[in-house]
Amino acid sequence: LDAISKADGTVNSFITVDGEQALAQARAIDARIASSGVEGLGPLAGVPLAIKDNICTAGTRTTAGSQILRDYVPNFDATAVAKLRSGGAVLVGKTNMDEFGMGSSTENSSYKPTRNPWDPERVPGGSSGGSAAAVAARECAAALGSDTGGSIRQPAHFCGIVGLKPTYGRVSRYGLISYASSLDCIGPMAHTVEDAALLLNAIAGADSHDATSSAHPAPDFTAGLLPASALASRPLAGKRIGLVAETLGEGVAGPINDTVRAAARHLEALGATVEEVHLPTFGLGLPAYYVLALSEASSNLSRYDGVRYGARAPGAADMGSLYTVSRGEGLGGEVKRRILMGAYALSAGYYDAYYKRAQQVRTLIQREMEGALGSFDALLTPTAPSPAYRLGEKSADPLAMYKGDLMTVNVNLAGLPAVVLPAGFMAAPEGGPGAPQLPIGIQLVGRPFAEGPLLALAHAFE
Ligand code: GLN
Repeated sequence: LDAISKADGTVNSFITVDGEQALAQARAIDARIASSGVEGLGPLAGVPLAIKDNICTAGTRTTAGSQILRDYVPNFDATAVAKLRSGGAVLVGKTNMDEFGMGSSTENSSYKPTRNPWDPERVPGGSSGGSAAAVAARECAAALGSDTGGSIRQPAHFCGIVGLKPTYGRVSRYGLISYASSLDCIGPMAHTVEDAALLLNAIAGADSHDATSSAHPAPDFTAGLLPASALASRPLAGKRIGLVAETLGEGVAGPINDTVRAAARHLEALGATVEEVHLPTFGLGLPAYYVLALSEASSNLSRYDGVRYGARAPGAADMGSLYTVSRGEGLGGEVKRRILMGAYALSAGYYDAYYKRAQQVRTLIQREMEGALGSFDALLTPTAPSPAYRLGEKSADPLAMYKGDLMTVNVNLAGLPAVVLPAGFMAAPEGGPGAPQLPIGIQLVGRPFAEGPLLALAHAFE
């Protein structure tokens, strides 16, 4: 809590810090240790964690970054949160985010922008920018984020931490405030691959509250992480890694290209075989993602009408204006833009041209990626075309912001697991004397439900 009060005046990672509750949780663990020792306590007992503010926490305000949920205090925990609590984790607060997860810089939060701990003039990425910044600024040991099209991975890249998007269905979405239900995933953001694996251990598994959660058995995700002794000589011998040609070259910052190629050589030095692989439909993912995500969002967000859900605007004359004024006041500009676009894509006469076509593209991308993963253990790509950019640099240009998601959205369309991990630094592209050094994260995409082997690979690289 001291670390938060020291850092958060600048970084703004948190929407809500729940000091009293955190101290009560910590004291309960202390009392438990005083009475019966550490025997039987899990690895997360007493560990301070932060939770993205679109994941419900009983008794602690949960806003999803939106004014329409400014007074929402859930009376239940999301399954992932309940599991962390029962593992003894200390939940210190709720982190800032783009409203409903819609954005890539956390500037679409209706509360405040979060700043990148490496350079406070820059964004931390988004939409889980608060969680990424809180981890990077050491305001917590690790955090939960959510990833619909890159929102765990891109901020992990911008802030120099590890971010894991699990396979779709691996972690229950119960209590995650929906953006696009067929793409949304909860996942860990941490300093190390091992920490991410420990968090995944705690939150993974089937849940009767979420019909899309998978019955696939959840193994111990730390089991495959090799000890330092085994890492010494070619621990990745026999592993095949595909370097996705379409994600490198034009449009990608030079030092990011270089870092990914250096990472490929490092993986080779560890014993892996790295080969270029072509995914011809790769570039279709971004437009398909924005049609599908916005279509689902327009439907999901219809519940915020001031009656069923969301703050009700006072003084409305009739039912119609109650809806329109509540939504008009409660939802931000980017959210409205997306609801409009999604409703348009779903409307009669346009459905076949947009939504249906995007679904067809989704199937193509899924087949192509799974096909490539038939002959490779993992695919290697950059996480985003650029490092952290300056606050305000892209906020007036939504298309430029959307384009930054090119390398992450296909993974969600295909439902695959992917991890981003720190791989280097670059000088800020604006250059000049005193240009800050900015982190670069590489992305490794794995086979469905193979988070264990994927994390083992990442751990060997790290
Ligand atoms: N930046 C992407 C979007 O705005 C992804 C966001 C996310 O994963 N929640 O849709």
